[in-house]
Amino acid sequence: TKKRVLVLFGGASSEHEVSLMSAASVLRAMDHSRYEVLAAGITPEGLFEYYEDQAGINTNHWEGFPYRRFVHDPRRPRLLFSPGDGGVYLQNEGLVQPLTVDVIFPVLHGPFGEDGRLQGLLEMCGIPYVGAGVLSSAVAMDKGIAKRLFHQAGIPQTLHVEMRLDPRQPAIHEAVNLVEGRLDYPVFVKPANLGSSVGISKAVSRDELENALRLAAAYDPKVLVEQAVDAREIECAVLGSRNPVVSVPAEVLPSHDFYDYEDKYFSGTSQTQVPANLTPEMTERVQQMALQVYQLLECEGLARVDLFLERNTDRLLVNEINTMPGFTHISLYPKMCEASGIPYSQLIHRLIEDALEKESAVA
Ligand code: ADP
Ligand code: MG
Ligand code: MG
Repeated sequence: TKKRVLVLFGGASSEHEVSLMSAASVLRAMDHSRYEVLAAGITPEGLFEYYEDQAGINTNHWEGFPYRRFVHDPRRPRLLFSPGDGGVYLQNEGLVQPLTVDVIFPVLHGPFGEDGRLQGLLEMCGIPYVGAGVLSSAVAMDKGIAKRLFHQAGIPQTLHVEMRLDPRQPAIHEAVNLVEGRLDYPVFVKPANLGSSVGISKAVSRDELENALRLAAAYDPKVLVEQAVDAREIECAVLGSRNPVVSVPAEVLPSHDFYDYEDKYFSGTSQTQVPANLTPEMTERVQQMALQVYQLLECEGLARVDLFLERNTDRLLVNEINTMPGFTHISLYPKMCEASGIPYSQLIHRLIEDALEKESAVA
């Protein structure tokens, strides 16, 4: 019998729209001869709304400008999760009935979907799911904690300062002094827990730093300030749980000052190169570091590891790891897999099988 796969999309994070783009691609590529595909949209408020199959979802709305938020529809059945008794239920006009789901594919980016919270809910309910577990998801999402682990493992990274700011009354002057005492301009200011460059800015002066700190703190009271590096941006896909494989590296060539939200999803002017133009030795070093980072954080399923290759020194630094990277056809993760011999639909199949295998290994 066909496995029943529930694809989750949307989510209560600033990366809601990005998830819709990723999910549109995943839903279209699902192999219906192998899987029965169900879907649930998570509204920006966090409600799970159920679709019997993907036919009722107009994914055409999710691609191209302007991107849509997934709108709450009170008539849709809702998913209810019930820890300890087999998982997931449908609530439809007051009636509650169990829903059989073999595996969940959370095509969600950012807080709640990618940071371990959803993964914890699914573990509590005993439902297998694609991707990293609770701990890896949480640690990879928190750039500050991830950096502490990179440091402890001796993996080179940018100089940085981690701080906590009250989003309503940030002690901006203290923060600026702290940064200026440790780093030189330009610096990058980032919310610790987010992705897609949301809330990130580059600051070249005290004034810009103040604004950048306020912006980042509005997304997350935990803020990271990093020394800017003059570097090529090199990324690598890692796939699998017990014996993860590493793809050929790719390079991002931002068209803006840096690889910001606009550049990633709107303007279409940033260029990517797959595979990256690197010497065989550098390719090898990139792949080794990507795998090292993946295993350090005990990732499972998939992750994209993003590195900096410093222009003047050829030093390789780790920037970050993303446990649910962008997943459209033109996103780098699938492209790197494709360039390494794993086409998109097969990639999805491998991820689902990986989740199911893990499940049977535990049971
Ligand atoms: P996100 O998780 O939102 O993608 P990143 O840490 O990857 O956050 O930062 C987004 C982009 O900002 C990077 O792809 C890069 O272009 C730029 N950037 C971030 N940190 C630095 C840095 N220390 N030096 C130079 N560029 C940086
Ligand atoms: Mg990221
Ligand atoms: Mg990034």
